[in-house]
Amino acid sequence: MSDQWIFLNGEFVRKEDAKISVYDHGFLYGDGIFEGIRVYNGNIFRMKEHMDRLYESGRSILLNMPYSQKELTELVIKTVEKNGLRDAYIRLVVSRGPGDLGLDPYKCPNANVVIIVEPLAIFPKQLYETGIDIVTVPTRRNRPDVLSPKVKSLNYLNNILVKIEAHLANVSEALMLNDQGYVAEGSADNVFIYKKGKLLTPPGYIGALEGITRNAIIDIAKELGYDVAEEPFTRHDVYTAEEVFLTGTAAEVIAVVKVDGRVIGDGVPGEHTSHLLKQFRKKVIEEGEKVNLPDENLHVS
Ligand code: PMP
Repeated sequence: MSDQWIFLNGEFVRKEDAKISVYDHGFLYGDGIFEGIRVYNGNIFRMKEHMDRLYESGRSILLNMPYSQKELTELVIKTVEKNGLRDAYIRLVVSRGPGDLGLDPYKCPNANVVIIVEPLAIFPKQLYETGIDIVTVPTRRNRPDVLSPKVKSLNYLNNILVKIEAHLANVSEALMLNDQGYVAEGSADNVFIYKKGKLLTPPGYIGALEGITRNAIIDIAKELGYDVAEEPFTRHDVYTAEEVFLTGTAAEVIAVVKVDGRVIGDGVPGEHTSHLLKQFRKKVIEEGEKVNLPDENLHVS
């Protein structure tokens, strides 16, 4: 039996016992929302921003949240404490809940709330040293007026198709463009380019999720005096950038050294990317929502 405790609809259950109905509309239709959050040294990074994004997603799709934002925030903290992990990845899922086989969400009165806390599957250290190769793919980003990428919904097929195309091209990640050909984001991360003293990332309206890591990097870059802007750019700008990097809760900041066969800069992680990663890692252990953990070295799983 695993030592991992899952929060499921009001109680803590063992991983093996954490089960929900096959009539759940999250399962049947991808009807629901989620967040991926990270705990660094007993501090939950940008907890409020993650919870704000979750509740905004819920409001946007008229999902009845069974807990207030404050209550759910406390439940997330409790789940981290229950699992006794100082460094962890939190997956918070709120699905529409069980209904019948029709689409109608009004027949799903009880949302399912799941909080999973796991030890971090850290990205291989070597990738931070070498950087990664990526490609752009034919799959376009959902248009914001169709299914807004700002809603962090359980419907990730758009992103999954991108991941499949990345695999088919023998790389681990890919960039998607929006319907006008502007660069939007990766399958599960945001993109930045650095060129001629300017740091750019696509604005939300292009079709990028407003990533918490992305926003933290914008803050850090501003504090460091970078000329940083949210501005649309094309593949040409990526190919000719001096540095390219991706950001996300799991990946943090990862250098991209080749895009569609074009070597970026010198083909190794650039000084600005490395500097921003260093500053980011400094920030994550300094700030955050404190979790009460009894013992510095206690790791349950
Ligand atoms: N874009 C998409 C589509 C994502 O799924 C994620 C991961 N949540 C990101 C960007 C990065 O966002 P964050 O920094 O909040 O993890």
